[in-house]
Amino acid sequence: MNADKIVKEDLNHIWHPASQMQDYEKYPALPIVKGKGAYLYTADGKKILDIISSWWCNLLGHCNEEISNALSEQSHTLEHVIFADLTHPYAVELIEKLMPLLPENITRFNFADNGSSAVEMALKIAFQYQMQTGQTKRIKFACLSEGYHGETIGALSVGSMDLYSRIYKPMLMDNIHIEAPDCFRCPYSCKRGHCQCECLQKARKTFEEVGESLAALIVEPLLQGAAGMRIYPEEYLQGLSALCKEYGVLLIADEIATGFGRTGEMFACGKAHVKPDIMTLSKAITGGYMPMSLVCTTEKIYEAFLGSYESMKAFMHSHTYAGNPLACACALTVLNILKRDNIIEKAQSKALYLTKRFNETFSDIENVGEIRHIGLIHAFELVKDPKSKEPFPSFMRLGYKVYRRALDMGLLLRPIGNVLYFNPPLNINEEDLEIGLKIAHDAVKKTLQDI
Ligand code: PMP
Repeated sequence: MNADKIVKEDLNHIWHPASQMQDYEKYPALPIVKGKGAYLYTADGKKILDIISSWWCNLLGHCNEEISNALSEQSHTLEHVIFADLTHPYAVELIEKLMPLLPENITRFNFADNGSSAVEMALKIAFQYQMQTGQTKRIKFACLSEGYHGETIGALSVGSMDLYSRIYKPMLMDNIHIEAPDCFRCPYSCKRGHCQCECLQKARKTFEEVGESLAALIVEPLLQGAAGMRIYPEEYLQGLSALCKEYGVLLIADEIATGFGRTGEMFACGKAHVKPDIMTLSKAITGGYMPMSLVCTTEKIYEAFLGSYESMKAFMHSHTYAGNPLACACALTVLNILKRDNIIEKAQSKALYLTKRFNETFSDIENVGEIRHIGLIHAFELVKDPKSKEPFPSFMRLGYKVYRRALDMGLLLRPIGNVLYFNPPLNINEEDLEIGLKIAHDAVKKTLQDI
């Protein structure tokens, strides 16, 4: 199918995720026919650097030879099998390899096939655990403002981003939203890395007031990704974990975006030495090959679901593709490559290089707010006034304009509002980072000149 036909038929019938489809009349979807390494290729032969790993999934680049082979091989052995009452070595081996990388209290694993579903499961497991251990007043969840955990109804209920939830508010659960840390525009006028986590007081107050009615607190550890790569200190996460322990509240760490080396260590919880009761994993888990997610939890929680059939204690939750062998084969190969090639450690030296080059590259653009980074993730917000950090009004759609310009120049840089970020494959090379920096710089500069 040629490029024109793909675009035309797409416009005629396809409804794309998180998009104002009217925009597609002016900017139709780009027809991508191939991927290799950090690059995508369009049907008319254009090469595009995918600096956001296609929504943070392609941990080792597109079409990695080894993962492709593992997937192909698995497809000739066992492609899918019902996972209730049956099992297979591909799931067992995956968990065997994954478990030692997680906090040592995590020993039980339940499979699903996307991030939001894992979050729904985590919430249900936390709630049911509290009910089955006699904590029947614990019926609410706490979460952080600006948090994001997916777009199904339960996941939206523990998210705080109006962009995704505003219209659905009447349908959502009534949860407790705690003001999140904001190290860029700190309400206590502290500088990033030079504070006593004053903002933790807000969480403490909430726990004092309603801690006894909480089943769980759900957080994105260290990095609120969808809120614009908002990075917060390890001490804040440790503080939340301590509050949860003190008040008997379960801690759910949503590592869907942070897992598998994105923060510079295998998991953000490990980096912060925090042991959550439940963890959710997805996105990079299969290197962007197959949809898969995991809800990981402790022996103590698992045991609260045991009993006779008649006890009705079982976790009656299933997803058709749970434990899919193709996804397991991909995930296992990702773990093998990460370990064998020391990918996460090597990415850390690349991260140092990228921090230096981000600072140098954007130093001549005063509207670039603070450059923040964790692992290979680097981000900044375009601000109207660099001193006061006053944002550009959202109607200007500045981030979107930079994105469109960068895409024309061969860089996929999908922004979050006016926040632009890199979240590349961990094995990207320095030359490709330089290409990304040059295009991002020129796109920002030209867009600002136009306003
Ligand atoms: N939790 C977090 C932290 C996420 O970043 C995302 C996806 N951006 C989700 C949950 C939802 O995952 P999915 O899009 O696979 O439903």
